[in-house]
Amino acid sequence: MLNREDIEEREVHVLSRLALKARDNSGRRVPEEPDALRTCFQRDRDRILHSAAFRRLQQKTQVFHAAEGDHFRTRLTHTLEVAQMARSACTSLGLNSDIAEAVALAHDLGHPPLGHAGERTLHARMQDHGGFQHNAQGLRVLDSLEETYAGRDGLNLCRETRLCLLKSRIPEGFPIADDLPRRTTPYLEGQLVDLCDRAAYLCHDMDDAMRSGLVDWEAFAALALPKEALARVRQRSPSLASDTTPSTSRTIRRETVGAMVTVLVRDLVVATDSVLENAHELREPNDVSATPSYLATHSTLRRTQISELLATLRQDLYRHPEVLRTMEQASEGIDALFDRFTANPTAMPDRFERRIYREGLERTVCDYIAGMTDRYVERSLAAGI
Ligand code: MG
Repeated sequence: MLNREDIEEREVHVLSRLALKARDNSGRRVPEEPDALRTCFQRDRDRILHSAAFRRLQQKTQVFHAAEGDHFRTRLTHTLEVAQMARSACTSLGLNSDIAEAVALAHDLGHPPLGHAGERTLHARMQDHGGFQHNAQGLRVLDSLEETYAGRDGLNLCRETRLCLLKSRIPEGFPIADDLPRRTTPYLEGQLVDLCDRAAYLCHDMDDAMRSGLVDWEAFAALALPKEALARVRQRSPSLASDTTPSTSRTIRRETVGAMVTVLVRDLVVATDSVLENAHELREPNDVSATPSYLATHSTLRRTQISELLATLRQDLYRHPEVLRTMEQASEGIDALFDRFTANPTAMPDRFERRIYREGLERTVCDYIAGMTDRYVERSLAAGI
């Protein structure tokens, strides 16, 4: 049997000098007794997994509306893909895969309903009140909005887990816990989650774009990364008819996208490893966060290919008239809810109403709407609350 102390001891021996070690954690805002079996980072992961905000991810749009089809990614399945990729990458690099998993599971908790349309609308409505950004909102969810036992606000996570989620500058005036810096470089585990996030959505958005029929394989066929991935799939299945493409065969589409994920994660590990090998001046994880830019990286070749793919997705999928039309409707819905709840705050649940005196009316309404699922937005609109 391995108890917490054994796992902590093993981390010290097995992990890289730049990996976060549970034993060296900087503690929680409210001190707690350590768990007998789990390290503090494993415990953070479990708290996130069991949170209500995490369960709501299943009803939040990634790109395609959660109600449109059973096989499109939602924020929940996206999150699980990121967690799996980040765990693999961190394990290969000798980094702490437990905290990487915790951070990956939490990385999208601040996303409002209805995808980027929801985020843009909330940001516009919050212009004079500190704005809105999903990353920063994620910290509000973890530190204050998630209700827990013992009448405490938030999940009381370790400082390292919270710092890993600070990947971009927090907008001026946006309220986050006062013990957090407004800008920092995440530890390596956080950097890898961030890059796995991008690799995951690039690949699965391409997959979903073809699945939906909105974008054809032809749009991707000439791009280096998808092209190479399909060539790998063909190599593995020599009997495959030469005119079979990811648009005509579901299996080939899945395998091609799978091959892209494999290529990108491997590239991330190899390129980051070579950066770390030469980073002799960095002795411990805090030296990583004191470095102004990311150490985790893709190779130059893959970085170019990633930009190419992103540009194509932007043009052909994210700005597809049908996607834009759904987004337009989503913005109108969020706008209408914002008007209703600011005009009639008592229509919000008591626990939000109680927050108004501390957080202000607009921020409270914003927090309430940001926590809704797509389905809940629709129900609220239909109910005409
Ligand atoms: Mg994400």
